Amino acid sequence: MPSDLHAHTTFSDGKLAPEELVAAAKAAGLTYLAITDHDTVDGVGHLYESGLLPAKGIKIIPGIEFSAHHPVHEIHVLGYNVDIYYRDLIDKLNDVTEARWTRFSEMVEKLCKQGYQITETEVLTIAGASRSISRSHIARILVRKGYFESIRDAFSAMLQKGKPAYVPHYHLELSEIVELIKAAGGTPVLAHPKLVGDDELVEQICSSGIEGLEVFYPQHNEEDTQRYMEMAERHGLLVSGGSDFHGYATRYPQELGLFTIEDKWAEQFYRP
Ligand code: AMP
Ligand code: MN
Ligand code: MN
Ligand code: MN
Repeated sequence: MPSDLHAHTTFSDGKLAPEELVAAAKAAGLTYLAITDHDTVDGVGHLYESGLLPAKGIKIIPGIEFSAHHPVHEIHVLGYNVDIYYRDLIDKLNDVTEARWTRFSEMVEKLCKQGYQITETEVLTIAGASRSISRSHIARILVRKGYFESIRDAFSAMLQKGKPAYVPHYHLELSEIVELIKAAGGTPVLAHPKLVGDDELVEQICSSGIEGLEVFYPQHNEEDTQRYMEMAERHGLLVSGGSDFHGYATRYPQELGLFTIEDKWAEQFYRP
């Protein structure tokens, strides 16, 4: 049976609401699903508060995906089984989402100066329930208004690090994120190591308190998967994997269940 330990909802930059994501996971026959929104646990909170967690017919792992501060590389850390009501976690997430808020207005302003006519209201409307406003929301508006063919094009031209509309936002330090996840009772796992873009840095991170590595990931080829599997073994890390499902037609996997991992990897993270 298949599982997926990396998926987003409308509470960050995913297309499906948490209950829709859970329904899609059941329809796809998943055994375990981890919900891992960017810098927020609101989607998980929404499920608890609607009485939908624990869920019937599927094992849900509550989680989060943090972005860590780094001058050059993108370092994302998954936290499985964090206590979403842990005070310090709530406080730090409030700081981060608040900073995303000021950052998105700056990005809109930069885009306007470059001649792209978009408004804050448009971005906030598309962001909907999400307090974690991201570049993905801005990109979607740029595509909808016909400025770019795809979200990817909008990122390459304007939104990526170093491009004209890019603005960094406040990120916690990697060590702080790892400690925070542990203090909240969770397990910190380095997400998509290939996207970090520097395996020496990945090795360093593997020996800096992280407890797992996302070995299985859509953008890892067989050789990458093998290399990260060996790295995980060498450092005594748990092996994780997931599809990074966002639910958009232009981004693989378009459907939940197209990229999965074996249950034996997922069950190590499940807390009944
Ligand atoms: P942010 O958290 O605001 O910095 O935005 C990062 C999000 O944008 C990631 O979670 C991805 O979903 C998305 N993203 C980043 N780079 C790209 C890209 N090149 N093409 C499409 N989406 C991207
Ligand atoms: Mn995303
Ligand atoms: Mn990520
Ligand atoms: Mn992700």
